[in-house]
Amino acid sequence: MGWVEYYIDPENCRAFWEGWVCIVDKQKSEKFQTLVKHSESIIPLLPWPKVMEKEQFLAPDFTSIEIITFASNAVFLGQNLPNYDDIREHEGFKNVYFGNRMPQASKASNVQFASEEQAEVLAEKSMNCYEVQVGCHELLGHGVGRAIFRNEDGTSPKFTDPLTNEEYESCYEEGQTWSTRFGDISSSYEECRADACGLFLQTLQPVYSLFGVADGEVDDLLWVNAMNHLRKGVIGLPLYNPEAKKWGQAHTQGAFVFAMWLYKNQKSKIVDFEIIGEEEDFRIHLDKQLLMAEGRELIKELLIVLQTYKSSGANERGLKFYTEYSEVSDFFLKIRKIAIAQKKPRGYCLKITWYDTPTRASSPFTTLRTSRASSFPTQIGINSTRSYTKRCSASGTSTKHHSKYES
Ligand SMILES: [Zn+2]
Repeated sequence: MGWVEYYIDPENCRAFWEGWVCIVDKQKSEKFQTLVKHSESIIPLLPWPKVMEKEQFLAPDFTSIEIITFASNAVFLGQNLPNYDDIREHEGFKNVYFGNRMPQASKASNVQFASEEQAEVLAEKSMNCYEVQVGCHELLGHGVGRAIFRNEDGTSPKFTDPLTNEEYESCYEEGQTWSTRFGDISSSYEECRADACGLFLQTLQPVYSLFGVADGEVDDLLWVNAMNHLRKGVIGLPLYNPEAKKWGQAHTQGAFVFAMWLYKNQKSKIVDFEIIGEEEDFRIHLDKQLLMAEGRELIKELLIVLQTYKSSGANERGLKFYTEYSEVSDFFLKIRKIAIAQKKPRGYCLKITWYDTPTRASSPFTTLRTSRASSFPTQIGINSTRSYTKRCSASGTSTKHHSKYES
């Protein structure tokens, strides 16, 4: 309980207040614990030089938990705590995956800005694929890499810029941290790095096999997670403010940077964006085979760039790079307009209602507005179901499913 994420404050200062109560799902947690157990052999597979990795990985706690109540601005799918890199590095950290936060398999007809075929695949596979991405993002994304400080003899360590091959000197000074050195891009940059880590690692056999993914399913796994990531950045363009030229959400900006990195550096046609008709709709085309071949290499290169600047504290290089890939061109401003015009009302996260009955059940209510309203009497313990049944019926909501919970 406390002030946690500061993703939507451009100054990286004001945080969301979060208070939540959850129950550990021991069975689901086993998968994540296995990932933790294997982390020591997986971490060396990351593509950056050894010097940028922690000497000792402090194996964290990783559990899957079911939300009972969650009071905050937003409910994430997973969390890595704390948000302070210096504490993560020296004291350790813990991860949680909110097992019942993921929306139940959505219908293909609800997937916007996608072809019929894409919508079918995303509706069917997103949930399972996302579990792998969240595991790798939290544990092996936020949890890896180290900050390099000035040498004991006062000299500065040397690095090679992966983009220009130029040698440069840079390091953290005593008392500096990731967020003090990289300022207002630090939060988004870090999310972009953790996501790229997840996308890279899930293509490696020792990682995907831990999640029960077969060799022949890896291209599907990467396609679904990369596509959802591109969609996050592009459908999330309404969170970009063209007047201030600023992004209002860290993860979305990170996903857009990822999209632009692939788009601008591809030699083949891995990804393409298409505006349909008179700026009525748009599509993202993502080629599965090319993504597995050239795309995977590009994701690896992105990781090396992000980690080199982060480890060496090269804030000017990092800022230049990150600002360039965060820029929204006129073409993407058109896509932004389409995304705004077709924006659906925000979904609700309906708090689960637990019942004191021999067969414990979660909320029978859907996330529709009417259903949300009709869940309140149950939550505050009104026994007279007759009165609210009447009201709900009048508004056309079926109340049949309430009967077994009447006391
Ligand atoms: Zn994150």
